[in-house]
Amino acid sequence: MVRLGVMGGTFNPIHYGHLAAADEVRDAFALDTVIFVPAALPPHKDLAEIIEPRHRLMMTILATVSHPDFDVSAVEIERPGASYTVETIAQLKRLYQEPKAMYFILGIDAFIEIASWRQPDVLLGSCHTVVTGRPGYDLYELAPYPLRELSATHPRLNFEPIVGGGPLDKRGFQVRGVPYQIFLQAVSGLDISSSDIRQRVKTGRSIRYLLPDSVEAYIRKYQLYR
Ligand code: ATP
Ligand code: MG
Repeated sequence: MVRLGVMGGTFNPIHYGHLAAADEVRDAFALDTVIFVPAALPPHKDLAEIIEPRHRLMMTILATVSHPDFDVSAVEIERPGASYTVETIAQLKRLYQEPKAMYFILGIDAFIEIASWRQPDVLLGSCHTVVTGRPGYDLYELAPYPLRELSATHPRLNFEPIVGGGPLDKRGFQVRGVPYQIFLQAVSGLDISSSDIRQRVKTGRSIRYLLPDSVEAYIRKYQLYR
């Protein structure tokens, strides 16, 4: 049985924060592959700052190509319209064919917004979720907030802590009768963000050691983020 991780993001550009978090989750959950899925038009972001999908896709490929267990999918970029994760998970399940376990990976900064996503109840009920920590965000303190918000709007969603750690011995939440869990995974926590990288490029500061050399070279070659 193949165990897949799915890491969505704008990847504008991809950096070591994304890569390190994905690799730690891959290790902790014994995933065979983590699929990076660059978003076409993220519904939650300032569109003016987001460069063309083909550039973000290419940088994501450059950054992941040397990792034997990382893969990239263009499903969101190739799909017309806005990128909704609930559709992406359904599409990837069809593409990669059951039986398998699928883990959707996202940072706590993204997870706190999840109640405003499209069909969050369907999303959380269609695969496992792994929420990773991020510098500046208290993972264990913040994670219950979006879940409480969801329970308020979806009365059938009553989240309870995973009892006894579950089969993977992890902290997290579950809904009784639902076979998927929401796991909380602390990671090394590299204090790197794409917005900071874009700002650095714009103001002529160094971005070395924040992202792979190949991605830095690509940004220079196409004069991105100027
Ligand atoms: P931006 O600053 O433009 O918002 P970002 O660095 O937050 O970019 P995104 O593409 O928005 O990157 O993030 C994609 C996913 O990766 C999100 O789930 C986010 O929480 C997670 N992530 C981003 N940076 C880190 C990091 N340094 N450590 C752990 N997770 C991260
Ligand atoms: Mg972000």
